[in-house]
Amino acid sequence: MAVNVLFAAHEDRWREYRDVLADAIKAVGVDAVLQTEFDDPSVVDYVVFAPNGPAVDFSPFTRLKAVLSLWAGVEGIVSNTTIQVPLARMVDAGLTAGMVEWVTGHILRHHLGMDLHINGQDGVWRDYVPPLAQDRCVGILGLGALGQACATTLHGLGFNVCGWSRRAKSIPGIICESGQDGLKTVLQSSEIIVLLLPDTPDTENTLNAVRLSWMPNGAVIINPGRGPLIDDDALLAALDSGHIGHATLDVFRQEPLPPDHPYWAHPKVTVTPHIASETRPKTASEVIAENIRRGEAGEPFLHLVDRDAGY
Ligand code: NDP
Repeated sequence: MAVNVLFAAHEDRWREYRDVLADAIKAVGVDAVLQTEFDDPSVVDYVVFAPNGPAVDFSPFTRLKAVLSLWAGVEGIVSNTTIQVPLARMVDAGLTAGMVEWVTGHILRHHLGMDLHINGQDGVWRDYVPPLAQDRCVGILGLGALGQACATTLHGLGFNVCGWSRRAKSIPGIICESGQDGLKTVLQSSEIIVLLLPDTPDTENTLNAVRLSWMPNGAVIINPGRGPLIDDDALLAALDSGHIGHATLDVFRQEPLPPDHPYWAHPKVTVTPHIASETRPKTASEVIAENIRRGEAGEPFLHLVDRDAGY
């Protein structure tokens, strides 16, 4: 019997995924009916979900085997108590590659002092020579699928890379810290810090006034993680005082960022509109298809969310 897969995400996503996801499910040998609606919710086996899609109450899906998120960040769904089945988040090679490129690009901008020349085409011969990567320490808060890939790439470019995660880790070439003392060590040594933590009750305001004060003078913050990781008032004060040199922010507590938000006009802030990286339909479909195959074969699902930890 065919498995029924409900695609519960914005209609733009459906246009991108309809064919490629159907092909990926077929390629793993599963016979599936893939639709955006089923008249009878009790026949649905899997829900492919994005938080901006229509499905919110999962209780009518009485036959459901798993909810498969199209997004890496699951803060919009993890506390949904109507989900009584495994919840998998997205770990997608295309999403990871995109994040590595975005983070590397923005780090190199600040590391090389590119703004000095891009903004300063005024006849002044500014002979600033940046340090080599080997003389610069970059910190990554969050050493998961994305943070680890960024850390390894930056290490490959020669940077001294330290990272921080909830549980202790060992990654070749990376100084790995955990716990509150570890956070202080990473912040104190990082001239450029990248936030790749999930949005959970524990990570809210990870960068508050006290922790910002631990960072070196002129440090740069790059946040492609989630808006609530930063206390915005504390960051604005640290930018105004000159203690923090620049903040490149891709994510915000309110998105789109309201036009009158002080970040837009701040000379030391770069705003990007939550575009650091996107789930890529081809590679993401392969991940979803593999999880459906596993569900049908009675094998453990990949990338399960730990509901207690919130990510
Ligand atoms: P993972 O779940 O793989 O990694 C999360 C990392 O954060 C892990 O290393 C985890 O530690 C660490 N962490 C979680 N809670 C804490 C805590 N309380 N203290 C210290 N460390 C903690 O997620 P991904 O790497 O896949 O994604 C990270 C985030 O990036 C997503 O949650 C999402 O918010 C954001 N994102 C943004 C995008 C954009 O376009 N801007 C695109 C995609 C994702 P441990 O290893 O011990 O579990």
